[in-house]
Amino acid sequence: MNFDSQVRVEDKLYYNRYVVDVGQPHVKVRAHTTPSPQLLALLKVCPARCYDINDGGQVEVAVDGCIECGTCRVIAEPTGDIQWSHPRGGYGVLFKFG
Ligand code: SF4
Repeated sequence: MNFDSQVRVEDKLYYNRYVVDVGQPHVKVRAHTTPSPQLLALLKVCPARCYDINDGGQVEVAVDGCIECGTCRVIAEPTGDIQWSHPRGGYGVLFKFG
């Protein structure tokens, strides 16, 4: 198998464009002092790396670049750790294939 011809996920994500809905993120993290296991899992599973941990040890989300795959929704919405909704019309990811 020739690995030289394979495309990395990061390279494919580069082709997407994202329209930011300023002040109205479609994913919100519940306020917390210590992250739950579900929140910590989001640091690893989000393919767009929207989740990060801040200097205070809390998990934060930056939805710029979110591809709306729903992975975080499956993991952390049932526990109430995040709130997830689709972006408003005209905002969010714009997929480009090329
Ligand atoms: Fe990341 Fe997918 Fe959740 Fe968007 S929907 S923040 S890409 S895991």
